[in-house]
Amino acid sequence: MQKTHREMAEAKSIALVAHDHRKQDLLAWVSKYRDKLKAHQLFATGTTGHMIAHHSDLSVESLLSGPMGGDQQLGAMISQGDIDMLIFFWDPLNAVPHDPDVKALLRLAAVWNIPIATNAATADFLLNSTLLEHKYKAEIPDYQRYLKQRLS
Ligand code: PGA
Repeated sequence: MQKTHREMAEAKSIALVAHDHRKQDLLAWVSKYRDKLKAHQLFATGTTGHMIAHHSDLSVESLLSGPMGGDQQLGAMISQGDIDMLIFFWDPLNAVPHDPDVKALLRLAAVWNIPIATNAATADFLLNSTLLEHKYKAEIPDYQRYLKQRLS
């Protein structure tokens, strides 16, 4: 498929997700980056989001809990161009019941070319990137063009 671009604004829409054994790590990370995160719009799966709201003064929109469909909601938002970045404290040491949803979320993040961090070190690099506070043009699949070609 050919490519087009999607422009991210200076203020990013950032999705935050943590599996149960990683929630404390994400809370610590969020507290470390509280000042930077304040400049952006935050979304999260249900339990993660409510915990962030409870333990910080950050405003976060909480979706459904991951195993109840929250990962899929985030995947849909990524596909619609409503999420610019995914910080996913994934648990590589324990099985989760919604593994297919997790895989789908990571797949859609790759399809739509958004920056994703699946561990704290990558999340540190993303939050310290000079691109974070600037507009950014991400290359994305040009589905409209593809459709036109298919219909002509
Ligand atoms: P939760 O979901 O924030 O509702 O716990 C996270 C996940 O496991 O996807």
